[in-house]
Amino acid sequence: MNDATNCYDPNKNPSLLSVEQTLQNIENGIHPLSNTKSLAIREALGHVLAKEVISDINVPPHRNSAMDGYAIKFSDINNNPDEVLTIVGKSFAGEPYNGDVNAGQCVRIMTGAMMPAGCDTVIMQEQAEKQDDVITVNGSHQAEENVRFPGEDIKQGDVVLQPGKKISPADLGLLSSIGIAEITVYCKPKVAFFSTGDELKSLGEKLGPGDIYDSNRYTLYGMLKQMDVEIIDLGVIADKKELIKQTLVDAAEKADIVITSGGASVGEADYISAILNEIGSVNFWKIAMKPGKPLAFGHINQTPFFGLPGNPVSVMATCYLFVQPAIQLLKGINHREQLKLSAKLENNLKKAPGRTDFQRGIFTQQENGELSVSTTGMQGSHILTSMSLANCFIVLPRDTGNVSEGERVEILPFNDIL
Ligand code: AMP
Ligand code: MG
Repeated sequence: MNDATNCYDPNKNPSLLSVEQTLQNIENGIHPLSNTKSLAIREALGHVLAKEVISDINVPPHRNSAMDGYAIKFSDINNNPDEVLTIVGKSFAGEPYNGDVNAGQCVRIMTGAMMPAGCDTVIMQEQAEKQDDVITVNGSHQAEENVRFPGEDIKQGDVVLQPGKKISPADLGLLSSIGIAEITVYCKPKVAFFSTGDELKSLGEKLGPGDIYDSNRYTLYGMLKQMDVEIIDLGVIADKKELIKQTLVDAAEKADIVITSGGASVGEADYISAILNEIGSVNFWKIAMKPGKPLAFGHINQTPFFGLPGNPVSVMATCYLFVQPAIQLLKGINHREQLKLSAKLENNLKKAPGRTDFQRGIFTQQENGELSVSTTGMQGSHILTSMSLANCFIVLPRDTGNVSEGERVEILPFNDIL
């Protein structure tokens, strides 16, 4: 057993674990994968940085102009705004002006071009009148205006990216701006999963009496795909103890995390618990949430294991709330709280005290900017259409009962894995 069992709060309800405690236990039980690799930065997009990146250079590397205009010495116009200055050369981006600039002189300069030595200010061209090789400066100005300084964005020696950062398009730009072509990232976790149940048929098979199509493998596939992991789909495994056991042992060997759905409860064909007592150190939790009460979590050898419930909505909710952060931890992603918002309820909602409800809702933004949320309808844990219609969970706290139209509720907008 891992130390998860310590988190039960016997004063509250000895048999039910809160969602927060469950998450904490999962966080305690999962660590980033140790295998890392070096990738060219384009290939590293979406991967998670394993080693900090330090800049060897300043960005910008040199003083340069933020405008097309004229580089001048501010003291030349300081006391005499209508000063006439003589153009003595041009500075282009990548092609600096290397000559001297004396009193009463200026240099034509383009955006990004290096500031000539001796100049400290750029007058934008719209504020200068040019005639032949002289300009007259109009308007009022400040020293150093329109000049970008070395290291303004990044200083030499700065830590530019910290481990745990998921590499974004902006990061590709940042890395290239400091000349970094390769970075060290965590390898993507390999996730093995299968469905259990004698009643489950795969697509293409005929339904016999009492059969249903396996949908959990498809929702899990979709969510895992969006989590950007390597997927190992082990199919449907019948409710046969030896078969499930062998599949679990094999899966734990080749994957970094194993997920099953179904068979984790207390029915006569539910073998997951008995098998894991033999081959793993796994806790069977009853979580104070709806949907998704039964959840198994632990390890088979060193491999983390999730035994999700069988009901389709419970699978999606527990995958979203618990498997998703677990995979982020495996990937090395720094923990980020999910965004929670407050919305005005448009229906009455039924709720029994005792468990936190994750009802399915559709939220919209009103013209006045306020968020409102309505229910998707029937909330049974087998009503998969509720997940398809929803764009958020309506989170109703553990101790509350029914909620009425017009009340404010907390919503958890779906992120892009749903
Ligand atoms: P179980 O936990 O195995 O007793 O399953 C609970 C409920 O979920 C039962 O109604 C099962 O038929 C259903 N169920 C289990 N696995 C799946 C699946 N892969 N796809 C769709 N429904 C499932
Ligand atoms: Mg079953």
